[in-house]
Amino acid sequence: MKGSLLSASVAAVALLFGGTAAYAGGEACRAAHTQADYQKMAEKLAAKGWLGIDTEKTASGAYAVKAVVAGSPAERAGFQKGDVLVALNGVQLGDESQKDALYKVKSELGPGKTATYTVTRYGSEKAITATYGEVPRDVLAAWLGEHVLEHTSVAVASVN
Ligand SMILES: [Zn+2]
Repeated sequence: MKGSLLSASVAAVALLFGGTAAYAGGEACRAAHTQADYQKMAEKLAAKGWLGIDTEKTASGAYAVKAVVAGSPAERAGFQKGDVLVALNGVQLGDESQKDALYKVKSELGPGKTATYTVTRYGSEKAITATYGEVPRDVLAAWLGEHVLEHTSVAVASVN
């Protein structure tokens, strides 16, 4: 995994929640962004809302919660470190055949919207309902920064 601990976890979250990676090759993505592109990108990212979990891919390809941000919507909802994400609003995660359904579910999320995640915790399934919050300024800055880094070939030291 490239990048620092922060960018690695941001990238994982971006993959899972359709963050900056969604712009790679997209209409808003050019080799050199204009101010208008950044404006559009920031608006789109902010519209996704924020949950406050960092995830990492497990050996089986699932996403496990690596950290829950203190005071975040995820913490209020009851997410715990080690929870493995199974489904979002009933749509299986990590199932290629459910890609379109998952895209639709994600596109309907945003600040103030509620979603129910199915997770496995200590071997049993559990439903966690969370209300997405506004994306904090530092998180938005990290998402945008990660996208900018994707356009560069700068070597970034890994801390893990
Ligand atoms: Zn771009």
